Amino acid sequence: MSAQPSAIRIQALRAALRRFNVTPKKSLGQNFLFDAAILDRIVAAGDVGETDTVLEIGPGAGSLTRCLAQAAARVIAVELDDRLLPILHHTLADLPNVTLIHADVLQLNLQSLVANGYSLMANRYKVIANIPYYITAPIIRRLLESPVKPSLVVLTVQREVAQRICAAPPEMSVLGVSVQFYGSPRIVGHIPAGAFYPKPDVDSAIARIDLFDQPPLAGAEADKFFDVVKAGFSQKRKQIKNALASGLKLKAAEAERLLSEAGIDPSRRAETLTLDEWLSLHRRTTQPPNHLTT
Ligand code: SAM
Repeated sequence: MSAQPSAIRIQALRAALRRFNVTPKKSLGQNFLFDAAILDRIVAAGDVGETDTVLEIGPGAGSLTRCLAQAAARVIAVELDDRLLPILHHTLADLPNVTLIHADVLQLNLQSLVANGYSLMANRYKVIANIPYYITAPIIRRLLESPVKPSLVVLTVQREVAQRICAAPPEMSVLGVSVQFYGSPRIVGHIPAGAFYPKPDVDSAIARIDLFDQPPLAGAEADKFFDVVKAGFSQKRKQIKNALASGLKLKAAEAERLLSEAGIDPSRRAETLTLDEWLSLHRRTTQPPNHLTT
């Protein structure tokens, strides 16, 4: 009986890692994908076409990079672990449209990222990656807040994180509000732990975020908006009036007034507010008190 294709692929991946003397490091979130059907699904989730520039975070041994490079115009792949560079140079040698950058993605200035004379431009590139889970939140924050935002982000993340990103009231969180402020997220599919080598301890999902051309607020106004959101969520599962008063250092009566003026029952919990309600609460906190209503 012949071996299953996925069995052959995991053998090939393990052989490549052995040959280059690489043992996967848990501390770098190294769970490599080898299942061809899942890799194809990730590429399809990004609607990757022949004019696309794709930024990949953490190419690992290059399995997703190869699939992306076969579909896209160019792939810029940022890998932190120098032990993986020889494998990547070897496995991607026949793909001239891949640029490897040895860097920590969290230290990288996307605005000044230039690969082969090409620089990333706002709304003109996609990020598609099986990211290291230990830095999921900072990666997402960096991408969404960058002055050169991608048009689309497709990430494999922990299933529970994908659910928080896509949540609706009454299950909202700071992460959910933040992502939905910048774009429209959805879960495209689930990935069984067995599709990775080594198997992660958590379930995974493919999340896609279509970024808005313009978020509802920018600059200092966006900063103030997130101060309000963080204050609202500062006391887990408590009434929003108490969390807001303590987070924004307001008197309880003042917090209640702002909430009532924004049309929000002060006894609700932060998890139950919609993005529009957060926006109208932000507007109240930045406007002078309305003396006509008191
Ligand atoms: N893309 C590969 C795959 O699907 O098989 C590997 C994915 S693995 C989950 C995450 C990759 O991110 C690893 O190759 C790891 O070395 C790399 N990585 C970890 N921290 C990083 C960082 N701060 N910057 C760039 N790459 C990082």
